[in-house]
Amino acid sequence: MLTVVRVQPNVFITGLLPDQHYRFVLATNEALVPEIQQMHHTSEDLARQAAGLLLGSFFLCAHSAKSEDRSIGIHLQRKNPPERMIAQSKPDGEGRISMGEHDPDLPTGNLLESGSILRVTRWQENRKLAFTSLVGIRHHDLGRSLDYFIQQSDQIMSSTRIVPVPSSGIFFEALPQATAGDHGAVLDLAFELQPDVLLGPLAEGKSWQIKSAFVFVPLHSGNFTLKCDCSTDKVRLLVRFMGADEAAQLLAERGKIEIKCEFCQKKYCFSEQDIASIFQS
Ligand SMILES: [Zn+2]
Repeated sequence: MLTVVRVQPNVFITGLLPDQHYRFVLATNEALVPEIQQMHHTSEDLARQAAGLLLGSFFLCAHSAKSEDRSIGIHLQRKNPPERMIAQSKPDGEGRISMGEHDPDLPTGNLLESGSILRVTRWQENRKLAFTSLVGIRHHDLGRSLDYFIQQSDQIMSSTRIVPVPSSGIFFEALPQATAGDHGAVLDLAFELQPDVLLGPLAEGKSWQIKSAFVFVPLHSGNFTLKCDCSTDKVRLLVRFMGADEAAQLLAERGKIEIKCEFCQKKYCFSEQDIASIFQS
């Protein structure tokens, strides 16, 4: 009997290649594309690029993830024409996207041009500590740019490979026992491997062997969700930073202050009384 394996549109699987002493993270967030498109009123093409960026930030999170309270943000900025996009991910698959203002009818093209810049921010201890690095775009390719970033930031010989064929990808990371031979074998595999080939079988939770030498053993899996942690308290703090003078000016012009979260588009509205209480406390 023929078994049809359905490719999961929204899943991440982490596991091991025990023979090569490598760990892998395999993921697809295809299901988020229409969700991003709807939330940000954007074209399918731009939503797909955003999903790819989100996947990239997830892979960076999954890289040597020692603490669960870590999150990673990637800010992608293109110079000409100017366009920007921010993706933030947590190791459990939760993430959020912010897009710059743009005309949805204009063609956007690829944001990954040679003049584009990636700014990677790693937060630790629930966003109390942040480390930011700048990464130049290499070969118009997000995966290669992030590989380069990981190699630079680790300052040790490591073999990683991210292949975000939007919106799916695979990430390989060497374990301490891996030998030069293991690095070579996994890199060769990574360059020719299409992540979709593995997603269906591994999503079933069973080990999977390819090219006779590589056994993929899945250990853990989860799903991606768009989730924002904005709150009235955080937005009140933002108003406080704005300063009493500017707040008073906005109130005089509009009678209220409305702030939209750039990530989830939720609107926060403050009356004159609310503003007064913000600056009293
Ligand atoms: Zn929000």
